[in-house]
Amino acid sequence: MTQLSCAFCAEPAVYLDRATGGHLCAGHLSARVEETFCATLDAPDGLTGGERVAVAFSGGKDSSVLLHLLATLAAPTRDLALVAVTIDEGIAGYRDETVAWARTLAARLGVEHRVVGFEAGCGSDLDGLVLWREARACTICGVLRRRLLQQAARDLGADRLATGHCLDDEAESVVMNWLRGDLYRVAGARPTGGESMVPRTKPLARLSEKEVVSYAILHDLAPELPECPYAHTALRSGVRGLVHRAELHSPGTMARVVSGQAGLEARLRGLLPPAGFTTCPDCGEPVLGGSCRACALLRSAVANH
Ligand code: SF4
Repeated sequence: MTQLSCAFCAEPAVYLDRATGGHLCAGHLSARVEETFCATLDAPDGLTGGERVAVAFSGGKDSSVLLHLLATLAAPTRDLALVAVTIDEGIAGYRDETVAWARTLAARLGVEHRVVGFEAGCGSDLDGLVLWREARACTICGVLRRRLLQQAARDLGADRLATGHCLDDEAESVVMNWLRGDLYRVAGARPTGGESMVPRTKPLARLSEKEVVSYAILHDLAPELPECPYAHTALRSGVRGLVHRAELHSPGTMARVVSGQAGLEARLRGLLPPAGFTTCPDCGEPVLGGSCRACALLRSAVANH
């Protein structure tokens, strides 16, 4: 079989860019990922330099690439102080191995690392919280994990919270907002208040999952790890299939969805009165819409036992 070459040099190709039809070698794929990452950091909601950055670090491929790029490329040139935060949901047969990998990688990169357990933050591990309602595991996990990440970032004195959302996640969020009929998000209405929240930044948001995973494999950031036993319950899995089929059929769809949404927001911003954050009387965290989903989920978990 003929070995295909990179579109830019004579090295063997390891990656097909379906949008252009061009092949890339390991070196040119890595360069493209690193350049896109740096360009995203330079965007208005990127990192200006000198910040203390909490990195949401699950130990999965996306967050491993995020931590690697922040530690090796961004921190030395932008004077960033990084602290990786791993939320241990306490999922039997899954989390122990990924937390162990997270500790290994953080140590290898010389990054300060904190592990925050569900047990301490929510009174029980996820397995206990989802008893009798496993079908909602990802919803419950997502709401509580976001709260724990925010609390940890604030407690650690972080200026920004970096997450590993990639282009696929961003395109899926746009589609989900439309499917939910969430006019505020579709119109880009920015909530007022919420000053106690650590602002988020998404340095991988312009990179596809395929680029991120390929980079992870090339840079020894993708060990064999078990899959979460609740992954099939994710609300996103249906939307993910839809977006991926559209991307396969018409390469570049995900980027067009995200840039189309940005254009729409720029034109519609200010048309809807912004919702305001209030403070949850139970946990003291900022909440939108008058009710705290995290506290409501924890109350219903207690009632279920
Ligand atoms: Fe949590 Fe669902 Fe992710 Fe598992 S797959 S860690 S339950 S969000």
